[in-house]
Amino acid sequence: MTEDRKRHCIVVIGGGAAGFFCAVNAARLNPHTRVVLLEKTSKLLSKVKVSGGGRCNVTHACFEIAEMAKRYPRGANFVKKTFHQFFTTDTIEWFQTRGVELKTEEDGRMFPSTNSSETIIRCLLDEAAKYKVEIVLQAEVAEIQKHDAVFVLTLADGRVVEGNMVCITSGGYPKSAQFHWISKLGHRIEEPVPSLFTFNMPAHPITELMGVSVADVLIKIPALKFKERGPVLITHWGFSGPAVLKLSAFAARELSKCDYGFSIQINWIPEYNEESLRGYLQELRESQGSVFIGSRNPFGLPHRLWQYFIQLAAISPVTRWSEFSSKQQHQLIRILCGDVFSIKGKTTFKEEFVTSGGVSLNEIDANSMQSKIVPGVYFAGEVMDVDGVTGGFNFQHAWTSGYIAAVSMSKNIS
Ligand SMILES: Cc1cc2nc3c(=O)[nH]c(=O)nc-3n(C[C@H](O)[C@H](O)[C@H](O)COP(=O)(O)OP(=O)(O)OC[C@H]3O[C@@H](n4cnc5c(N)ncnc54)[C@H](O)[C@@H]3O)c2cc1C
Repeated sequence: MTEDRKRHCIVVIGGGAAGFFCAVNAARLNPHTRVVLLEKTSKLLSKVKVSGGGRCNVTHACFEIAEMAKRYPRGANFVKKTFHQFFTTDTIEWFQTRGVELKTEEDGRMFPSTNSSETIIRCLLDEAAKYKVEIVLQAEVAEIQKHDAVFVLTLADGRVVEGNMVCITSGGYPKSAQFHWISKLGHRIEEPVPSLFTFNMPAHPITELMGVSVADVLIKIPALKFKERGPVLITHWGFSGPAVLKLSAFAARELSKCDYGFSIQINWIPEYNEESLRGYLQELRESQGSVFIGSRNPFGLPHRLWQYFIQLAAISPVTRWSEFSSKQQHQLIRILCGDVFSIKGKTTFKEEFVTSGGVSLNEIDANSMQSKIVPGVYFAGEVMDVDGVTGGFNFQHAWTSGYIAAVSMSKNIS
């Protein structure tokens, strides 16, 4: 090793999933280069620790790139390219090679078989120690300047760190102003807005059914032309569940613009539309005529919800299928196929949330993660304008982009 090579240094900014994955791979791939990881706080991998309810939903058991890309409301085209270099299969193998087995749950989410995020943290910390990544805590980068071929990083406390290449993995910030030190490099920042939240309906009577869930509903935001199908959960403040979270993610920008005041329309039995339901109800009148409506729930809906719906349609539970009026039928069809709710506000989903927005993807080369504005600067993770729905997609982007940045920097530094 020559003295010259010894002096080469890669600086990674941020000790989260993307930063660690970048740092440990860069250090392993290029043992003669110093890899320094700067973390603003006194804690490493803090989001990994709390992720997935403390279990860390590492990735998703999806093995088709085109299918996987559909789970990213922002950055779908970008990840289509990056996943060709490092995909879910590579994540599984990377951890497996280091003794971490992942298991798949029914819905496709993958967790360490220990069910503990500590397993992932331990693996990344061991890897960092093995390849001698220099970790500096309480090191908040406040400014990056390029002097010839050297980057000079000034920390918030005045310390200075120098490097030949810099990878920015500082995660999502809720406010545009917090990206100032990155935009000063010349990068455009897409306005950050929250994604993955639940819908509030203060004091709506349906919230008395908190805890009730329906496996398959169709939710639309008619004014914004967004829709999602999937499970929904009634909570004490409104609606949650996978379909709601997905909708919040895909409509994140538009919902922020209307300050989270909007209407949704729910079809509680999406296999029917108004017309086909009318036909089915007619069949029930004939085949189940003597049965009480309140005792026979023909749609497999939770019993409490069915009781709520018939009460809303002003139908007594002891009305027989042959007896209910066409006005009541009309009401029931409207409630089942197109119930409208006014949403007022949002609640952050505690299991997983992300900030959409960040460094504009037009200015990052998807093959290398290198900045198109400042050569030698790289990006990985949530700092970029990429975000996924819940299910392990956000970590997969962090691993993929961190890995690609590590490989590209290693190629360019030697
Ligand atoms: C509660 C919760 C649960 C989640 N669960 C899951 C899950 O199970 N699966 C999934 O796929 N996704 C999950 N996510 C999303 C996922 O955690 C993030 O998308 C992912 O952690 C992003 O990784 P990152 O390294 O880009 O950013 P981060 O993890 O946010 O790390 C960025 C790091 O940079 C540091 N930093 C910031 N600015 C500076 C600076 N100027 N100088 C130095 N350091 C700086 C920060 O302190 C932080 O440590 C969850 C998110 C939350 C909040």
